[in-house]
Amino acid sequence: MEELKTTITERRRQTRNKMYRYIYDAESPVSKQQIATSMGYSLPTVHQNIAELLDAGLIRPGEVQKSTGGRPAVGYTLDENVRYAVGIAVSATHLRLLATDVKQNELAYKTMSLKSPEGDKIGEQIAEELELFFDENTLDRGKVLGIGITFPGVIDQEKDVIVLSPTLRIKDISLSAVRKPIRYPVFIENDSTSGGAAEWLGLSLKEREEDFVYLFLENGIGGAVFIDGKPYLGTDGRSGEFGHMCIVPEGRKCNCGKKGCLEAYCSAFRFTRDIGRTPEDFFASLAAGKEEYVQLWDENLTYLSIAINNLRMAFDCNVILGGYVSQYLEPYLPKLKAKTAERNTFETSAEYIKLGKYPTKAGMRGVAWHFMEEFINSI
Ligand SMILES: [Zn+2]
Repeated sequence: MEELKTTITERRRQTRNKMYRYIYDAESPVSKQQIATSMGYSLPTVHQNIAELLDAGLIRPGEVQKSTGGRPAVGYTLDENVRYAVGIAVSATHLRLLATDVKQNELAYKTMSLKSPEGDKIGEQIAEELELFFDENTLDRGKVLGIGITFPGVIDQEKDVIVLSPTLRIKDISLSAVRKPIRYPVFIENDSTSGGAAEWLGLSLKEREEDFVYLFLENGIGGAVFIDGKPYLGTDGRSGEFGHMCIVPEGRKCNCGKKGCLEAYCSAFRFTRDIGRTPEDFFASLAAGKEEYVQLWDENLTYLSIAINNLRMAFDCNVILGGYVSQYLEPYLPKLKAKTAERNTFETSAEYIKLGKYPTKAGMRGVAWHFMEEFINSI
């Protein structure tokens, strides 16, 4: 009897959850009648669940605009302010904090210098900065679901360690040392995996049915493989470390100590730090046709095309380019596509190369989503 009761309660919860997701995905407020018709529920069932969702503060009333004009009907829309999460990106030099609501709208953002990349010191700095961040932006601590943190490195979730981060020059850092000073739930993930998750969220429901590979282009180069909407992490959590694929045998020395890695050729450092320019300077001079930059950039696109074609060969799916470099790529996309297509054995076009929607802040958005997904599943 007890079991039967649980089953009924769970089934009712699932119905409520489906209805919440329907309202979540709808672009504008939806009426009870619309929900009943599209989801195949009776009006009393819809009525009951809407009342529960309203009571819980998860949705709010909104007006449904009829295409034929006339009086607007009462509808329901998401209350995106009911909860929020914070995504934090740790890079070689900076800490960045981003708060997003249930619908991934940005609530607050802050960037600051990183004091030390050591685990306990990072944890302490994050704990301090978080409290300031909450106060400065009058964010309600009672509504925070959790804190997601990204690191540019290999993370072993089972052993609970950052195995290696060539970018931060650290290895074997205990994740519990990072979590300890922070008094909220914490989830830690590789930055490119989180970035890929943000791009997945940015796709339409239809586009989400397709798998994709994410190539993250910044000072360090990383990536992620998304299959059925989930990152494929590999046996040791090292899947998607595209920056350390060898593209030139015995080539340039890489940060990781090996030679000829993609990162040694296509790191943004090559056209920023190494030549003493900011990204804006470099791309402005490149657009103006500065000869040595044109050559340097052409070389960069060539190496990038090798990597992208290899990814296409390995995965046969779309390749989404992200990371801050991707925001400058649009004018050079036709050339990159042409260079990549030229290398391909099976096809003559490289239209599978796409620019990501979030060249900056992707990792923070994606890692914050970890908590949103849990929250939505729990409704
Ligand atoms: Zn390397």
